[in-house]
Amino acid sequence: MSQMTERPPDSDRPLERLPGQVARVSLPRPVLQSFHYRIPPDLLPTAVPGVRVVVPFGRKRETGILEALVDPPAGGGSRLKDLHSVLDEEPILSPELLHLCRWVADYYVAPAGLVYRAALPPGMLGSAGKGRGELRRQVIHIVRELPTLTEREQVFGKARRQREAYETLEAIGGRAEVAHMERQLGFGRAVLTGLVQRELAEITSETIERDPFAGFHTGPPAPELNPAQERVLEELLHRAEASEPGVAVLRGVTGSGKTVVYLRLMRAVLDRGRTAILLVPEISLTPQTVERVRSEFGDDVAVLHSGLSDGERRDAWAALREGRKRVAVGTRSAVFAPMRDLGVIVVDEEHDGSYKQGETPRYHARSVAVVRARMAGALCVLGSATPSLESWELARRGKWASLVLPERATPHPLPDVQVVDLREELTPPPRILSERLKEALAERLSRGEQSILLLNRRGHSTWISCNDCGWVAACDSCNVSLTWHRKRGRLVCHHCAFEQPSRDICPECGGRTLSFTGVGTEQVERHLGEEFPEARIARMDVDTTGEKWAHRDIIESVRRREVDILLGTQMISKGLDLPGVTLVGVIDADVGLNLPDFRASERTFQLLSQVAGRAGRGSLPGKVYVQTAKPAHFAIQTALQHDFETFATRELDDRAGPGYPPHVRLANLLVTGPDETAVADAAGALGDWLEELIERHEVASTVVLGPAPCPIDRLRGRWRWHLLLKSDDPPALGSILRYSAANAPIPSGLRLEIDRDPESLL
Ligand code: ADP
Ligand code: ZN
Ligand code: ZN
Repeated sequence: MSQMTERPPDSDRPLERLPGQVARVSLPRPVLQSFHYRIPPDLLPTAVPGVRVVVPFGRKRETGILEALVDPPAGGGSRLKDLHSVLDEEPILSPELLHLCRWVADYYVAPAGLVYRAALPPGMLGSAGKGRGELRRQVIHIVRELPTLTEREQVFGKARRQREAYETLEAIGGRAEVAHMERQLGFGRAVLTGLVQRELAEITSETIERDPFAGFHTGPPAPELNPAQERVLEELLHRAEASEPGVAVLRGVTGSGKTVVYLRLMRAVLDRGRTAILLVPEISLTPQTVERVRSEFGDDVAVLHSGLSDGERRDAWAALREGRKRVAVGTRSAVFAPMRDLGVIVVDEEHDGSYKQGETPRYHARSVAVVRARMAGALCVLGSATPSLESWELARRGKWASLVLPERATPHPLPDVQVVDLREELTPPPRILSERLKEALAERLSRGEQSILLLNRRGHSTWISCNDCGWVAACDSCNVSLTWHRKRGRLVCHHCAFEQPSRDICPECGGRTLSFTGVGTEQVERHLGEEFPEARIARMDVDTTGEKWAHRDIIESVRRREVDILLGTQMISKGLDLPGVTLVGVIDADVGLNLPDFRASERTFQLLSQVAGRAGRGSLPGKVYVQTAKPAHFAIQTALQHDFETFATRELDDRAGPGYPPHVRLANLLVTGPDETAVADAAGALGDWLEELIERHEVASTVVLGPAPCPIDRLRGRWRWHLLLKSDDPPALGSILRYSAANAPIPSGLRLEIDRDPESLL
């Protein structure tokens, strides 16, 4: 055994019990390296890759993931500490998931421990002692009754604690969770096992399924496929059978019946004994999709999303891991769902920005889905009415399959979209509704039809300034203006938790004429109430949906026709199938168009296409009004025509010159810190260091842009500068990033954040 020669030289243990290999453990901490521990003999049987382990770390204990058994690091073997304990009887991360997480850690330059934590249900990985979630609940229950006192004396003898435990169990109905007996009632594991050994009680694993969607009514049965859907399904099935199924981009206009196709595909995969994952942007916004999946697959479905309690999520996770459920539906992190023999991953609304995690690990669930599917030999389907240009480009070049559903499946064609030029059709202050949109709303109200209004800006007024001295209400810790929330009487920062009471006097000059501009949804709601006092209005934005199921409740009431006008931010643009809606109005299409971000046009096109797709899905035709001051902008023009291809061609062309994705790969390197000059200096030094690194290694594929202050140059008290790396060689870019993360000169007190394939450069 070659490992034996590498045993720690100072070991005084008998040779035959000496484990040659040590455990490589990653902890959920913001450091890139992993740590090595010796495995004490009693832990050898259970210390296998993929289990959670408790390890000594400094003066504390921490829980981490045992990633691999490896030879001890050269020279350091003697100083290794012992693993403290192993938490799981069997690995909670399969080899496949360990491998996937490793890929995520390497690609996104993220600490592996934080990737594992993101991949596991909440509370599974943290500092030892807290949040040690158990996958399965163990239940201890009485199997033999002891009716007489004499029997009890005989059976228990001097085992006083066992008798207490038995009688406690009796008193609480004969059954309890082991964890409850141990933690709340203070009976040790040995006491409980004693009861089992005496055949008085049994311990069984029982999963208490708590299903938040239980009360949800299920939808109508799935319709027969139309010929276009049949062709797409056939093609997907054909690919799913292949040895390397690859990736298929399914572009289908809103209402073309993509979801129907996903369901049939997933059903076929299940029939072949494999499993399926469906990713959706945000569950609370897509209750209808979840509902359709549930009505198709019933108890085979586990729903995973951030609205679940930790326990609910662990239940769902355990069910998938044990193969009791075979379909996972969820948001971003469901891409890590512990499936057995995965056959397909469907990413619905694949263009959606919420698939990218905004904090470490900054992974993009779409990319992870593609990689996982490849590792598992599964098919990956990326569906959208408005595919991301990244996916579209690969489909266009034939690297990925390209499938199209060009028409709606319902009797009515895509709605007629008209532009309202805000420069010509001046609306009376507060400039919310043009005459045309107002009339259209009134008409819908009189006919008993429903309307949707979109404004992607919340609060009442987003810009409060002094007419005398020019003062602007701004956040103390971010370089952004504060938004006035009228009902709450507060000025609020939408980037951090800062808020202060409303003002009517300028704090700088004492001036009394403050102007409140920049209309938000709260103001629109008020205005609608004044214009249409008889209308039933519902507002859906972050401020009205704090409660766990608030979204669902609002959507349900719209569906029950208890609402005439649904008003909201981009939340209302996604996935809703509300047949009663015949009018969609976009109050200000320019909100996102003016952002200093290379995706501004793409985001605007997507938002307009998606929200327009909410109109006319039932038996009545739909109509859409888009209010804008830039009616000639191509993103707006192509959205009016539902013309994705013209938009994509033009936008791809526009991005070729400056070199933006998908023509190149990006990494955004942010330097942040409390002191502006220090941050600017460090960003400058980092830029020089990167230039030198790239030159020294002759990496012709990669260029450095910047440094420059970020568009939002101060956030939560930290100044922000960034450098942009552009590359057409992903592996080379990866090497540079990993080398930089470990070696770049960043003064203490400052932070370097690496965002690979950034969704936003703000
Ligand atoms: P998408 O996911 O592309 O927006 P959906 O799958 O939600 O489309 O379908 C839109 C509407 O059309 C739904 O109400 C759905 O039931 C209906 N639909 C889909 N396919 C068919 C079909 N082949 N025949 C009749 N109705 C269909
Ligand atoms: Zn003033
Ligand atoms: Zn702030």
